[in-house]
Amino acid sequence: MTMQYISTRGNANDAPRAFCDIVLEGLAPDGGLYVPQAVPVLTEAELEALRPLHYPDLAFAIISRFAPDIAAEDLKGLIDRAYTAEAFGTADITPLVPLEPGLSILKLSNGPTLAFKDIAMRFLGELFPYLLERADTEMNILGATSGDTGSSAEYALRGKPRVRVFMLSPLGKMSPFQAAQMYGLQEANIVNLAVRGVFDDCQDVVKAVASDLEFKREYRIGAVNSINWARIVAQVVYYFKGYFAATRDNGEKVSFAVPSGNFGNVLAGHIARMMGLPIRKLVVATNENDVLDEFFRTGKYRPRGSAETHQTSSPSMDISKASNFERFLFDLVWRDPAMVRELMRKVGEEGGFDLSTCADVWSRMPAFGFASGRSTHADRVATIRETEERHGVEIDPHTADGLKVAAAFREPGVPMVCLETALPAKFEATMVEALGRKPLRPRGCENIESLPQRVIEIDADPATVQQVIRETVGRAQA
Ligand SMILES: *Cc1c(COP(=O)(O)O)cnc(C)c1O
Repeated sequence: MTMQYISTRGNANDAPRAFCDIVLEGLAPDGGLYVPQAVPVLTEAELEALRPLHYPDLAFAIISRFAPDIAAEDLKGLIDRAYTAEAFGTADITPLVPLEPGLSILKLSNGPTLAFKDIAMRFLGELFPYLLERADTEMNILGATSGDTGSSAEYALRGKPRVRVFMLSPLGKMSPFQAAQMYGLQEANIVNLAVRGVFDDCQDVVKAVASDLEFKREYRIGAVNSINWARIVAQVVYYFKGYFAATRDNGEKVSFAVPSGNFGNVLAGHIARMMGLPIRKLVVATNENDVLDEFFRTGKYRPRGSAETHQTSSPSMDISKASNFERFLFDLVWRDPAMVRELMRKVGEEGGFDLSTCADVWSRMPAFGFASGRSTHADRVATIRETEERHGVEIDPHTADGLKVAAAFREPGVPMVCLETALPAKFEATMVEALGRKPLRPRGCENIESLPQRVIEIDADPATVQQVIRETVGRAQA
């Protein structure tokens, strides 16, 4: 049976959908998230066969299981173009760097924008134009970013056919490096909109534009946000890569520590584990925005509003409503969409739910291997300093959150792999606080702030965004 997708809030008589359809669509019409009807479980022999593969071949072996509706040679081409040594600085794509016996860092941030989001976005950057070509259509991607997602999407889609990116960012709120990275792009299909406001204002404007259904249809508005299933699937690959790099044979287990925000990265780990990758623990690391840590420790899920979201020195994790969490919840409640609907109704009407009082659900938790912890600004600064002193390795504030939380869950005989989610160069201020000096900059980024910038400053107004989209599309068609 070929793999198809269902909604976490669906009904039994909904027709399952194909990979190519759900990838361009985003949320399911019922408000749920698309998940595979069944996650493919690898046999021992299949797992063994993956061990020697180079990154692109490993990626093909995994992604093809989730995307049977793309011809094998086409998919191979997309993957080979996405994961090049040129784009990631190494043919390994995600090299494992040992810190000490039993502890290492999986480097996921060697891509063009120096954050792990490039791994998924590079794949999307090939997949979207391919699917749009196949359907003979085009798409205007509209999004809001507080930093990493926007630049990663823009770098992946710059100059690509059939697709334009309109990205809203809060004026003056990103690090100078992040702003320079985005606003420095000169391609005509990339449009940066700096909004006089905060990130939430940007997001509200995007929602308002996308809820204008007539506009959305006429201008083919799409998204590449963190619920995009193709992004999750692309991220599953590096858990396999990291596991093989940290072990000699498949009898061993590995734990992963994951700096978390929208739960996309660690959800990919959960999928890898369900596929049979011998993962012992998935350690969810949060910063002061600790909704997920609270859930995994207590069973209480209580997403916060933006007023209760702290601005921290690991800003890409400043999220109080993890958009991918529902996909794990679905697995936890026996993949029963009626239960997910009921729990999400409680989130909407009562502000959250408490699974510790549902003994039959909560008793299933240990089987999923999750652990969690929280890290603060002081922890980040101390961890950055210690890691540089002890191991001579510079890590960024998000990776520091992961490493800090990982320390509590190390076990003898189980390698702990910490996922690196960004390079220090993106977050100079915190690095200077921790190390007393600026972090190293990768080659090519030395003078990024002095390059010419292309950005339109606007008020937080949906009509203005619509006008910019109309004019840009009109110019392209003229
Ligand atoms: C996006 C991001 C995260 C959080 O990842 P999620 O998939 O949203 O959990 C962590 N660190 C950095 C640097 C990021 O850009």
